[in-house]
Amino acid sequence: FRNATLFESVKTLMALEPIKTILDIKGVSKTFESGTHALERVTLKVSEGSFVALVGPSGSGKSTLLRIVAGLLSGTSGSIGHDLNDDVIANDIGFVFQDPTLMPWATIAENVAIPLRLRLKGLGNAEIDKRTQEVLAWVGIDAFKNAFPRELSGGMRMRASIARALTTQPSLLLLDEPFAALDEFTRAQLNEDLLNLWEDRRWTGIFVTHSIREAVFLAERVVVMSPRPGRVIADIEIPFVYPRTPDLRNDHAYSDICADISNRLASAITD
Ligand code: ADP
Ligand code: MG
Repeated sequence: FRNATLFESVKTLMALEPIKTILDIKGVSKTFESGTHALERVTLKVSEGSFVALVGPSGSGKSTLLRIVAGLLSGTSGSIGHDLNDDVIANDIGFVFQDPTLMPWATIAENVAIPLRLRLKGLGNAEIDKRTQEVLAWVGIDAFKNAFPRELSGGMRMRASIARALTTQPSLLLLDEPFAALDEFTRAQLNEDLLNLWEDRRWTGIFVTHSIREAVFLAERVVVMSPRPGRVIADIEIPFVYPRTPDLRNDHAYSDICADISNRLASAITD
């Protein structure tokens, strides 16, 4: 009987839908009008709900690739397949930059509400307040909702920037070196909080960084780019379970993976 139950469970599991590909980047190359060859045939599939980190030296086309994915720039060749809400793809992608780009004259709550006002026209004020309140709580800055950006620390401003990107509840969140300007302690704390948020909300995340240690701490998968023109030179599964806790940073297996990625990058640079 037990085995029969097990057999049924396995059958049920196998019948579940395969994991959906939310983003299908196929052979994307980009040469700017200036002649700079930024990307060379980048191919990458991203599964729904996954967390992928993209690492590579400065100038390897990471930001260019994110901008192409977000539709802010077009590739010279190749294609981008999205499985997002087709009618409003822009509302279904959140973008977080290294600079929090908050409006100095508006409160944190007003800043965070901007995408709701601009993109989801027709939402009433009560609904806007409710959603804003919700995302402020997710990132732990509800106490600062009436403060102005200048009154917040860099880490808190970055939390506000993440909250703003999440107000429209996008399926895909693109983060371009969001924590690069923060001190080490704030950065470590934001890494952990971002992961907790991801485990709760399960947006699909693509996180660009040039910190290998940050990439390995955060992601399920680390995609390594070569120096310009950026190509994918490695795609590495990171085996650590979630929730990932600070002690992972002292783990030998973690250091070994970081060293492996670092060696691959070093050999790509000297090639
Ligand atoms: P990364 O984010 O990996 O540091 P970028 O994607 O910003 O790299 O840039 C890749 C290359 O493309 C760099 O050499 C950069 O100078 C160049 N580049 C980026 N944007 C433009 C642009 N709008 N026009 C011309 N060259 C650009
Ligand atoms: Mg960049």
